[in-house]
Amino acid sequence: MQNVQNLKTHLADALYLQYASAVLGWDQQTYMPPGGVAARAEQLATLSKLAHELFVSDETGRLLEEAEAEVAGMGYDSNDAALVRVVRHDYDLATRVPTSLVAEIARTTSQAHEIWANAREDSDFAAFAPTLEKIIDLMRQKAEALGYEDRLYDALLDEYEPHMKTADVERLFIELREELVPFVAAIFDRLDAVDDTIMHMNYDIDQQTEFGLRVIEQLGYDMTRGRQDRAVHPFTTNFSINDVRITTRYREDYMPSALFGSIHEAGHAMYEQGSDPSLEGTFLAGGTSLGVHESQSRLWENIVGRSRGFWQHFYPDLQRRYPDQLGLVNLDAFYKAINAVSRSLIRVEADEVTYNLHIMLRFEMENDLLEGKLAVNDAPDAWNAKMEQYMGITPPSDKDGILQDVHWSSGLMGYFPTYSLGNFLSVQFWNKALEEVPSIPGDIAQGNFAPLLEWLQTNIYVHGRKYWPAELAERVTGEPMQVRSFLRYLKDKFTDIYDL
Ligand code: ZN
Repeated sequence: MQNVQNLKTHLADALYLQYASAVLGWDQQTYMPPGGVAARAEQLATLSKLAHELFVSDETGRLLEEAEAEVAGMGYDSNDAALVRVVRHDYDLATRVPTSLVAEIARTTSQAHEIWANAREDSDFAAFAPTLEKIIDLMRQKAEALGYEDRLYDALLDEYEPHMKTADVERLFIELREELVPFVAAIFDRLDAVDDTIMHMNYDIDQQTEFGLRVIEQLGYDMTRGRQDRAVHPFTTNFSINDVRITTRYREDYMPSALFGSIHEAGHAMYEQGSDPSLEGTFLAGGTSLGVHESQSRLWENIVGRSRGFWQHFYPDLQRRYPDQLGLVNLDAFYKAINAVSRSLIRVEADEVTYNLHIMLRFEMENDLLEGKLAVNDAPDAWNAKMEQYMGITPPSDKDGILQDVHWSSGLMGYFPTYSLGNFLSVQFWNKALEEVPSIPGDIAQGNFAPLLEWLQTNIYVHGRKYWPAELAERVTGEPMQVRSFLRYLKDKFTDIYDL
């Protein structure tokens, strides 16, 4: 396999340059003093330019073709064949869009960020509309350059969720909408059944930090190959399989923010740490897509972290740390409070039940905008009408409506659905794990997370990027991605919590 080896050696330089940028990016968001901003921007620009040029070079193209010839007869499951497949996918994505268009998108979106931030602050959509119009036009050009068979959106989605088709996502959302919209309405009629005011008391941050670290270590996040720091926007980043870092943010007046944020990021991090050691230093290391990544963060955060069993184990310790706040609150009341549903207009504050309605709305609007079925000027009304239709609420202003998310101003279209695909997949994986290892819920209630982690490790993490998301779902669960299991999970859990 000399040709594959040559490709690997050549690409390792690009990968290490990317990792070096990631170290600088991590430092920028955690420890760098404000004075470092300008110099850091230059350093990052230089490193990412070098990495990009190396990756899209003719040399990569030539080595890739030679490697393709070499792996032609090999089995689909071979690591070498998989590496060549993945590099071909990334290489085509990176080279099909002309440099001039890449530069135009970069220029427009970097200016767009401030225009969007100001428009949002003033709740003035008209101030952002011309910029959004331009970004949508650039996204259309990008989709045309990338190529697609069926829908413009396919080309954009592929960047985040390889080989996933818009029509498939649409089918999942239609099924979700039919069942979830009436279920949400039923919960909204019973919101008084759960009181979450205890979450909004004062919680000492040192205790939050200690408790959070104890939780994620016990889940299985390997702190000898990771660490947690503070950042304004929580994220996970990695520079190797053996150096995967997470960040969190603390709020004294809202305890769930840091705790569930840490569990979420630890879920991403355990997936990254779990790649087979032989994949280290290659493009096969890490998660296979944003959706599958999100399935892991959500599985640990929601299915495990917001379950009764999990708190049977951890609640006594939390109560001991916060006797004034939680001493008189029983486990059942606490469990309900961390699962409270609300009529939130804001996606990032949404609960497990309503979250995917926020995503569905954005997915539908992105398609309509791209395909010219919806004019930018009509977008705020369309947004509000959908909110009314799905959640029975209308945003009082565009700040709490169409202007709330940063994604469109950054040119991230096709990204949103990955959050929901992650939620759907998380339950499919969980159900399969329980079918194969029925002791898992009992183990969790005893604070033993190893059986679940081992199952995820063996069935999902170890493969890195070797299988495309849909292949992985089929391979692990024996069926395609579907929304049925997720709906069943939500209905069981919240019918109980809200006594429906
Ligand atoms: Zn996430």
